[in-house]
Amino acid sequence: MLNLYDTMAKTTSEVEPLQPGLIKMYTCGPTVYRDAHIGNLRSYLMADWIRRALEFQGVAVTHVKNITDVGHMRQEMLEQGEDKVVAAAIAEGKTPQQIAQLYTERFHADERKLNILPAHHFPMATDHVDEMIDVVKRLVDKGYAYEVEGNVYFEVSKFGQYGNLSGNTQGEELREAVRVEADPLKRDPRDFTLWKLAEPGRDLKWPSPWGEGFPGWHIECSAMSIKYLSEKFDIHTGGVDNIFPHHEGEIAQSEGYTGQRVVSLWVHGQHLLADGVKMAKSTGNSFIMADIEARGIEPLAFRYLCLTARFGTRMNFTFTSLKAAQRALLRLRNRVWDWETLSERPQPANSHVRDRWEQEFMRHVNGNLDMPDALALTWKLVRADLPKPLKLDLLRAYDRLLGLDLSDVSEAYRVPDSILSIVERRAGLRRQSQYEEADALRGELESDGYVVQDTSDGTRVRPLSTWEKQREQWPTVSSAAEVASLAHEPDGPEFSIAVVASNHVDDVRRCIESALRWAGDLPAELIAVDNGSTDGTPEWLEQAASKDPRVRVTHTDHLLGAGAANNILLRQSRGRIVVMLDTSVEVLGDIFAPLQALLSDDSVGVAGPFGLRSADLHHFHEGEGEAGDMDAMQGYCFAFRRSLLRDIGMMRESFRFYRNLDLDYSFHFKAKGYRIVADPTLPVRRHEHRVWAELSEQERDELSRKNYGRFLHKWRDRADLLVAGRAAT
Ligand code: AMP
Ligand code: ZN
Repeated sequence: MLNLYDTMAKTTSEVEPLQPGLIKMYTCGPTVYRDAHIGNLRSYLMADWIRRALEFQGVAVTHVKNITDVGHMRQEMLEQGEDKVVAAAIAEGKTPQQIAQLYTERFHADERKLNILPAHHFPMATDHVDEMIDVVKRLVDKGYAYEVEGNVYFEVSKFGQYGNLSGNTQGEELREAVRVEADPLKRDPRDFTLWKLAEPGRDLKWPSPWGEGFPGWHIECSAMSIKYLSEKFDIHTGGVDNIFPHHEGEIAQSEGYTGQRVVSLWVHGQHLLADGVKMAKSTGNSFIMADIEARGIEPLAFRYLCLTARFGTRMNFTFTSLKAAQRALLRLRNRVWDWETLSERPQPANSHVRDRWEQEFMRHVNGNLDMPDALALTWKLVRADLPKPLKLDLLRAYDRLLGLDLSDVSEAYRVPDSILSIVERRAGLRRQSQYEEADALRGELESDGYVVQDTSDGTRVRPLSTWEKQREQWPTVSSAAEVASLAHEPDGPEFSIAVVASNHVDDVRRCIESALRWAGDLPAELIAVDNGSTDGTPEWLEQAASKDPRVRVTHTDHLLGAGAANNILLRQSRGRIVVMLDTSVEVLGDIFAPLQALLSDDSVGVAGPFGLRSADLHHFHEGEGEAGDMDAMQGYCFAFRRSLLRDIGMMRESFRFYRNLDLDYSFHFKAKGYRIVADPTLPVRRHEHRVWAELSEQERDELSRKNYGRFLHKWRDRADLLVAGRAAT
């Protein structure tokens, strides 16, 4: 039977149904104010594999997945009255109901594309407010909750087991989870909201014993899981970010309400990462199904990819790995097609051998869903020396779990009769040894998008998949790590001019053309990273590269963070001096000779026109036309000797947004004892910086704050590196 790691017990144990032959499972579902990203979908795939594993072994499963269409938000946002569904409705000019309906439909479509078995119930939060009010009422009656001015709070100190799931038992840690100023109405900052008074003007609100209001974040899952699965059920799933505070809150509510343990087993899937950090819309590194399909990749390739990592481990998503999954899935499908179309007579199945292969497969699945090993066994089976009908039979059994649509490939590969008749005509020609004509027909079929295979069993034909049909215009990379580092190779030209281009083709052109013009006859190369552009920038760069041998381009398959994109440039440059330019910059004269002169002093690490100084690491200001030693050089124009890379290293890729990345990198030079020197007379002009101009005030604040935090975290004790700091000592 299936064994799963239980977050509560912190051990792996066997799933034992409370009711023989039936497992009741609850999965925290989507908040429908936007598309689910593929990280969310990884969590639902985990629940799907749990369900398939149980059903495979003859256990019935009742599966509930809630649809959050109100109230789900980070707790501190809730306390400020923010609701994601309402916020999205305002932003998109729709009613909250329209928003919720749109994204609920899209969510179901995503699940269908991924072959996720539909839950038996998809309760919507807004349909269950009465049930939530009942739970809250009883919690108040039993003394677990209290009301203040129309708000109801759960009193954490009344529930002794609070913290058992997450391990957040210390008051301090719990307080840290509340990031904004504590709600003054609470008795204890750890207390969380069960019911919130509606603010004036709010549409989405319900009458309650405490006045008109709306439910808190965790209460819907208590109310709906109990309603659909009863006061005791077997499995509850979610992503690890649900552990605290969401599931901790749910346990307190449900157990306070029922007076008993409600959930037997808690299963949490680790995160999907992108560019090394948790995938989240707010981080700007999230992808949705449409992003995958737009690249001609099948949704099921993502399902395959998720099979390659265990759920207890984080998995870094890249398009490179997704493409590898797509290729593997095609290979697997074609093998099944092979077996389905062969003439080999089915032999009496050797049931002993069959059982062994099936048991082995289930041993992996039952071992806390070891899908990577189950997949490895699938490939072992594909290659095994076994009768093909047996392999086909086993693979179809495996696929009831894998869910990769491998059971009837011939059906999926069915071609129209008109194509079949061409294939027959061609076979006739071949029988008459008219090979030239036969080949011409083959060419015709291929250009129509079909694959023709002649085998000893005859000729087969299938349609090309979207993936096979599309030819990538140019190779792309998913991360800086995929790009060869030339840092240890000897210098090539004197200068590498290095530019990251992310859309705004006119800026890209102005920057690159002006730099190349003023580089003139100097030995220079220009390396560009086309960072996920879609506005003609990639085409313009390719054209520039074909016209000018100095230009080299690396294309990325999505928008990389600023640190990663710049690191591609650092890895690819070969010039003795690297001059990094931002595309908002235009070169108006010879910057190269002056930079060369500044950098001829070995004590100088970085040179450029736009220096910054700081007295305290907190405020950096432009040097107001001053020349000389600086505390940092702005990334608009940032030059250094390439040989220093060996000493300084690459940029920190945790900086996804450009701000403060240049400060941080400058400090890496400073920490190694190099000076940073500005020459404000260098002939460059800064035009509008579009990346910045495009952001809303709020986005600017948030992104800047995060990056500033990263910078300060590393350098807060290094005021000694400042020019002012050194003067003082
Ligand atoms: P939400 O729509 O934000 O409520 O999230 C839906 C589900 O996706 C929850 O179970 C989350 O724990 C899970 N989730 C969120 N982000 C990720 C991620 N990057 N990787 C895996 N699961 C995630
Ligand atoms: Zn939930």
